[in-house]
Amino acid sequence: MSPVPDLEALRALGPAQQPTYADRDAVDAAVTRLRRMPPLVFAGECDELKEKIAAVSRGEAFLLQGGDCAETFSGVTADNVRNKLRVLLQMAVVLTYAASVPVVKLGRIAGQYAKPRSSDTETRDGLTLPAYRGDAVNGYDFTAEDRRHDPQRLVDVYHSSAATLNLVRAFVTGGYADLRQVHTWNTDFVRDSVSGQAYEKLAHEIDRAMQFMTAIGADPDEFHRVDFHSSHEALLLEYEHALTRIDSRTELPYDVSGHFLWIGERTRQLEGAHVELLSAIRNPIGVKLGPTTTADDALGLAARLNPANEPGRLTFITRFGAGRIRDKLPQLVEKVTASGVDVAWVCDPMHGNTFETSTGYKTRAFDDVIEEVQGFFDVHRSVGTWPGGVHVELTGDDVTECVGGGELLAEIDLSNRYESVCDPRLNRVQSLELAFLVAEMLRK
Ligand code: PEP
Ligand code: MN
Repeated sequence: MSPVPDLEALRALGPAQQPTYADRDAVDAAVTRLRRMPPLVFAGECDELKEKIAAVSRGEAFLLQGGDCAETFSGVTADNVRNKLRVLLQMAVVLTYAASVPVVKLGRIAGQYAKPRSSDTETRDGLTLPAYRGDAVNGYDFTAEDRRHDPQRLVDVYHSSAATLNLVRAFVTGGYADLRQVHTWNTDFVRDSVSGQAYEKLAHEIDRAMQFMTAIGADPDEFHRVDFHSSHEALLLEYEHALTRIDSRTELPYDVSGHFLWIGERTRQLEGAHVELLSAIRNPIGVKLGPTTTADDALGLAARLNPANEPGRLTFITRFGAGRIRDKLPQLVEKVTASGVDVAWVCDPMHGNTFETSTGYKTRAFDDVIEEVQGFFDVHRSVGTWPGGVHVELTGDDVTECVGGGELLAEIDLSNRYESVCDPRLNRVQSLELAFLVAEMLRK
């Protein structure tokens, strides 16, 4: 394990996708404040999650990771957080019950505020301004003032994450996630959809099973609470470095900004600053792998990020696109497996399937998303490895951002309720549908 590099050493590596701050003193002040803040998560919780992901890599559990592409500060409301949690709980119940597999629940939540962008600038009606890089860096409004990179926002990320996590913790342990609530999670518009009705049926079966358990005197703790963990892309080095702390129990470094951190497709350079920092922390971590990833790239990353080959430490999140996964994934999985690397394989069926409509909306087709997950299952089944999970961008609301699904959302519908500030998310009904389809794939 490499020692934690200092911030200057990371900066000297020329990290990709970082903000350009005008006022260095303000950056130092923000970092100093963050270094004094209490941890958002505990090292012991990160270790528990690592154990669970180790079960995923052994083929004994399935990972469900989901949430917004980009959280926003204004999205930190009780309704918004509850709705996201609710759809994830519903999906987890479907996957657990229909496929009889333990589900590890991981939110893209409480820290997912920074975005890598393909272009540094955005031009509208002849005006060019810095691209929106997530609320952690700048504002979404298309004005010079809002698009300025502001280091104070790093401190705001901390507070927004703390508020979100506090609510999530209350929901998952304080009765909302009690299995006796399975019906109440299925409220309003979802109940009338086809998958809402399928869910209702499943919830009835769970009720009956629980009544039986209660009648025989069994009432395990697991009925009343769920384990739920936070994750985000570890993109901004100032923020992640300031929240990297030595755990007093083990004297080992953890990034206490979230339980699970991942490195994005655009920042996974083997000699880069992101790999350098994440190789030094003890959290469970992930790396996104796009369609150009060679087996040697993946093996190099595994050697740098998990030299001891510790189970649960490393997750490869593949995002190849529905059209490429069947062709490109087999060789990657075969070589990585043949070299004895211990890794959990997870499918991100979103980022390889984005396109722009003629009306200028960034969208994804539900069928492409499902086709990539199916390809992922087929490839792993034929290689003999475990399709360990899915990583999806979703919301608990009735938005119109991805086309297709049982409600046959068309391109023309996208303008009705397109709210994402970055990539298009599955809405609540589409998310539930995906869970039913994935449960079927798991059962086979
Ligand atoms: C994301 O997860 O929002 C993202 C930017 O993904 P990737 O790094 O795979 O492009
Ligand atoms: Mn995204």
